[in-house]
Amino acid sequence: MSLRHSPAALEAALTRVAHDKIAQDNIAHVDIAYVNGEFTPLHEARVFVLDRGFLFGDGVYEVAAVLDGRLIDNEAHLSRLERSLRELGLSSPLPMARIAELQRELLARSGLREGIVYLQITRGVAEREFGFPSGATPTLVMFTQEKNILASPAAAAGIAVKTVADIRWARRDIKSVALLAQVLAKQAAAAAGCQEAWMIDEAGMVTEGSSSTSFIITRGGAIVTRPNSTAILPGCTRRAVVALAEREGLAIEERAFSIAEALRAAEAFITSASTFVTPVVSIDGQPIGDGRPGAHTKHLRELYIAFARGSA
Ligand code: PLP
Repeated sequence: MSLRHSPAALEAALTRVAHDKIAQDNIAHVDIAYVNGEFTPLHEARVFVLDRGFLFGDGVYEVAAVLDGRLIDNEAHLSRLERSLRELGLSSPLPMARIAELQRELLARSGLREGIVYLQITRGVAEREFGFPSGATPTLVMFTQEKNILASPAAAAGIAVKTVADIRWARRDIKSVALLAQVLAKQAAAAAGCQEAWMIDEAGMVTEGSSSTSFIITRGGAIVTRPNSTAILPGCTRRAVVALAEREGLAIEERAFSIAEALRAAEAFITSASTFVTPVVSIDGQPIGDGRPGAHTKHLRELYIAFARGSA
């Protein structure tokens, strides 16, 4: 897209993006956004070029799923948002309870039934200096995307994963908008015909997916996922799935695992707000188990869907 847009050109570009997205990724934009106190059509939504989110990636974000027009597990997302803000010395422009009200208002105005609400807070607009500006007001932006989460083709068929080196910074527990390493990882996956990248740390162990948490299920039936630390984002879906599995009496092992172990596993899957529980059927072209979505993964997905409906 060129940077010089007339509103009509922007609208046309967004429509084109929306059509391409539906065709490729099963995602579409709803033409409404919230920017710093105002609801506006998405194609008219603007932030200033000196916004620190744009210049420095100096901001944080959250993505919460929507089912039946209601937000899923949103308290967990807002509490992670508060934590991300705190860790970066960033203040919220509004109390969390007010942000939750605005999310619901955005949802009502958008008419969205199934998809996601995206929310971003940056350190605001200031002269371009690295240090924190004094007196800048944080920027708050929200928009929605329509997406088939329940009837997702990836959930039915499973996804292919490509491994890449984890080249991110050392505070991956903060949900920062600086996502360049994940952009490169996802692009490398797509170029290899895969839907997700699993990132590998310097010790040869899987950290997580480029936009999801990684899990394997051993042949002995244990569900293995890396423990929360500064090496990964503490996934809200991960948290719920671990709790659900524990409630079912399933064995959980919170420890790092390698790709060699993943290739020997019975099943593998990812979790994220926008994909719930999604089976992984191959890694770097090698099948996991029999190369089809596994029964335990399907069961965990059903448990999570029931939880999501209950949490909305
Ligand atoms: N890990 C990374 C790097 C992510 O970007 C995401 C989601 O975007 C997740 C894990 C999953 O987190 P959640 O389940 O809260 O969506």
